[in-house]
Amino acid sequence: MPEGDTVWLSANRMHDALAGRVLTTTDFRVPQHATADLTGLEVLEVVPRGKHMLTRIEGGTTLHTHFKMAGTWRIFTPGARRSGGKDHEIRVILANAEREAIGYRLQLVELIRTDQEDTVVGHLGPDLLGPDWDADEALRRLLAAPEREIGDALLDQRNLAGIGNLYKTEVLFLSGLTPWTTVAAVPDLPAMVRRARKLLVANKSRWVQTTTGNLRRDELHWVFERHGRPCRRCGTIVRRAMQGPDLYDRICYWCPSCQAGPSPSGSSAAASRPA
Ligand SMILES: [Zn+2]
Repeated sequence: MPEGDTVWLSANRMHDALAGRVLTTTDFRVPQHATADLTGLEVLEVVPRGKHMLTRIEGGTTLHTHFKMAGTWRIFTPGARRSGGKDHEIRVILANAEREAIGYRLQLVELIRTDQEDTVVGHLGPDLLGPDWDADEALRRLLAAPEREIGDALLDQRNLAGIGNLYKTEVLFLSGLTPWTTVAAVPDLPAMVRRARKLLVANKSRWVQTTTGNLRRDELHWVFERHGRPCRRCGTIVRRAMQGPDLYDRICYWCPSCQAGPSPSGSSAAASRPA
């Protein structure tokens, strides 16, 4: 699932391909904008905001998109063979004379007024990769709910924007704490937030996301999606359990030896199954 660094990189590539150029084709394959036509207008800029992308277009229109689970933007030379999805998965096409950007499987596509972007991203906390990143404000927001479980709090984009399940999982491993630890019980919350940002920054300029520093395909992560396999650090079997509602983002992976703190009762049987 795309996290803040992937959106950041996608937005930068989109900006390079579209900004300063006039749209020659637009195609919105979502019911509410099926008749929209922005051809002849210039794309001003494409900016990431947490896990949201804002494509600002001449005339005061912004295309707001969110990858959610499986969305992606791909950029092609017009007429080139496309990859990245099937034709029926296309939600948006934005093209100019030299480039076409195709949004596949985007679960959120909406045209809004640029002066009303706050209605869709105004709730977000400080953006870990934003030019206006504010660690103190992120800490203030996290600490406003001290009894909340840290795994849940790190995913809440209102606290800080850009962390998804991968970075949540890995930063908790690197901090030695289980996701069920309360915010108040995190010994050094500023260090945890710094570490999360460091991971996103380290990965923002490439598509591969590594938290171990190793770019080998099987060695990218410490515990993420490694349930049933031995911890890289201590050999204990990595566990998996849900936190809160049954959503992808709520799947936790952790090493019961390397990570201190509460863990759900009864998680061990299901979580210890081989991957
Ligand atoms: Zn371990």
